[in-house]
Amino acid sequence: MRELKDLAGIIGLATWDQETYLPPKAEPARAGQLSTLQGLYHQRLVAPEVGDWLGAWSEKAVSDDERAMARVFARERDRAIRVPADLVRTLAESQGAALTAWRVAREARSFTPFAAPLERLLVLRREQADAIGHGGERYDALLEGYEPGMRTERLMPVLHALRDRLIPLVQALAGWPPGADALAGRRFPAEAQWRFTVELLGRLGFDLEAGRQDRSVHPFTGGTHPTDVRLTTRVVEDNLSAALFGTLHECGHGLYEQGFRESDHRTPLAAAPSMGLHESQSRLWENLVGRSLAFWRAVYPRLQRAFPGELGAVPVEAFHAAINRVARTPVRVEADEVTYNLHIVLRTELELEMLRGNLAVADLPGAWNAMLRELLGIEPPDVVKGVLQDIHWAWGELGYFPTYALGNLYAASLLRAAERALPDLWPAIGSGEVGPLRSWLRTHVHAEGSRLDAEDLVVKVTGSGLTDVDFVAYLRAKYGALSGRNLS
Ligand code: ZN
Repeated sequence: MRELKDLAGIIGLATWDQETYLPPKAEPARAGQLSTLQGLYHQRLVAPEVGDWLGAWSEKAVSDDERAMARVFARERDRAIRVPADLVRTLAESQGAALTAWRVAREARSFTPFAAPLERLLVLRREQADAIGHGGERYDALLEGYEPGMRTERLMPVLHALRDRLIPLVQALAGWPPGADALAGRRFPAEAQWRFTVELLGRLGFDLEAGRQDRSVHPFTGGTHPTDVRLTTRVVEDNLSAALFGTLHECGHGLYEQGFRESDHRTPLAAAPSMGLHESQSRLWENLVGRSLAFWRAVYPRLQRAFPGELGAVPVEAFHAAINRVARTPVRVEADEVTYNLHIVLRTELELEMLRGNLAVADLPGAWNAMLRELLGIEPPDVVKGVLQDIHWAWGELGYFPTYALGNLYAASLLRAAERALPDLWPAIGSGEVGPLRSWLRTHVHAEGSRLDAEDLVVKVTGSGLTDVDFVAYLRAKYGALSGRNLS
């Protein structure tokens, strides 16, 4: 297990480098290096003797921790063993072809070049799901890769309940806010932005002696070990929000990675139980804390000092309103907190129907536009801002999108539990002290590692499992207060 963790760490380092500092001419060489390392990881994972050791050890595992470790390890190994090597290879090749076709299609502003490669990926993903095994719903086998324990029949009713509450909420907020964006048309020097994001990391308690921040086109969190957590952010001079919320988001992931128990390091327990739970931590800091008035009452004076010309005359209330504007956009990554999950409902619904064979790839662009109209009442201007906007399907990722919505829902439920446990949570945040919240999350979420499946952990911490109720209550309270409209 330690060898595998070490290999995964080095793969993480090479991947981080690929996205940050790798000279362009080295790209093919790095792709080869990564492929070799991933091959070694796979060989080690599926080696027959590892199965023998795991079997013998599982039988004599005495403590709960040992049992949890064996369970997590065996789950990863079984999944890897079940998919035949030639299918893994064909999938990798087809992903490469689909990615190229997706770029060509975007360039041509036409879905057609992407249709056949996507169809091929669907066929292969169905094969993969059958090889992994499922109880009749192939999507479950793919979902399991990102969200162990989650099932389609558990997920979809929650997403539908969320959709049915969000649609009227979005309608009730139509036309709000009426005024102009207080941040629009301003230029924020890159160096000052960078310094401020590093200061933010320190304020939130990210340990810069056990991690670092760099720049990349698409922000992400990676690294080699809980003592070496690598965040990236994106600095855009005419868009302050990109760096601020990129850093807050990745910092949430980073605090999770730094929060695993030391005794779990180099074991399968030093990991989040699911992508959705990992995302709950990034969204909690980015949105629930990072877009709150309390947080900015404490931090905004520093931001004003960093940008005196741009923000000196903008009051904190106007800044808070600017970072919480609600506007229906066809583009997921530009969406606000209120509309965001409707974009996820759309993608989840469509990929599920494609995988089931109920929706033909040729009909995908039309189905996309129809559903966007139904959910948000808008149309994309073209396929680049429509069905071709995300890279996920070009990678062949099916079952990934729901983890974003799960992150939002789990975040709201976890924060509510923290509020119950810490009555002074918000006054503390309002005076610049996020330590109590961070410590609570560390104890109840981060330190648990992957001992429990995500929803079981959420049940343990909050008393209830996956639900949209806490998230919707949060939206109603926040945007009701901001807009002065009745959202109940
Ligand atoms: Zn994230």
